[in-house]
Amino acid sequence: MTIQVFPYLFLLFYFHSHIDIAHAHLCESRNNVPSPLGFLNQLSQVQKGDNVTGVRELKKHLSYLGYLNYNNTYSNDQKKEHENIFDDSLETALKKYQKFYHLNITGVLDDSTITKMCQPRCGMPDFFNPNNSLPFRTISHYTFFPGNPKWQKKTLAYAFDWNVKEEAKPPLEHALKEWSSVTPFKFYYVKNVSRAEIKFSFMSGDHGDGYPFGDPRGGLGHGFAPPDGRVHFDVNQNWSWAGKRNAFDMKTAGLHELGHVLGLGHSTIVEAIMYPSVHPGERKKLHKDDINGIKALYKLRGK
Ligand SMILES: [Zn+2]
Ligand SMILES: [Zn+2]
Repeated sequence: MTIQVFPYLFLLFYFHSHIDIAHAHLCESRNNVPSPLGFLNQLSQVQKGDNVTGVRELKKHLSYLGYLNYNNTYSNDQKKEHENIFDDSLETALKKYQKFYHLNITGVLDDSTITKMCQPRCGMPDFFNPNNSLPFRTISHYTFFPGNPKWQKKTLAYAFDWNVKEEAKPPLEHALKEWSSVTPFKFYYVKNVSRAEIKFSFMSGDHGDGYPFGDPRGGLGHGFAPPDGRVHFDVNQNWSWAGKRNAFDMKTAGLHELGHVLGLGHSTIVEAIMYPSVHPGERKKLHKDDINGIKALYKLRGK
């Protein structure tokens, strides 16, 4: 009897675990903190023509990421009346998002799109103008900030704000070293933050720059284009100084935000450091696309 029952138990377990995996996608809580994008779970499969509560939040989110201009596309009257209607502009924005992230371009908010939107990411938008086209060139897929801002000198001072833990400094310095090994940039340490071009800080919540942490707008971190040089990380994230699983790798995040500080925008290449999202435990290095981007921006010769 026991021998006959066992395979059924196994099968039950097998199917049960598959059901769990199916539910494990979409927006989940992390470290017991509910996802700020949890509203997306209620919007599974919404598409053009639907009128569902929460579509307005989706429009706002795609606006933060630079895919839609919620403020300019809709008049105030339209915003009130049509705020939850899934319209043409939203479908266009969603298709562009799906193309950037190599998803099926359905225009429907399907589960793989929701799962991608909920993945931890950088707070900087993917586009600074929703009318800009996707960076799909023949080889490279890097982008720049509007107006291609860049540093006029190649030797830059960096400093750590008082709130940067000692353990965070070596991985951030390794990230600086990796960038200087493939570019003409040289970085040197100064104690005084006001004398540095590159300024690392750890912040929490709304810290006054329009990219609040604990909110999709702030992301895990963000870095500002030249000649700003500020790099902010969310102090309330689980950071890893040396490749811990289930925590965000500080050097990988540092490489990404330093890419912004040097003038790079987001890339559509998943392996590039300038790809916007990251998994806990994921460790990346600079990719050819990142290096090609810097070389193109600073008009450096050679590949
Ligand atoms: Zn970024
Ligand atoms: Zn900030």
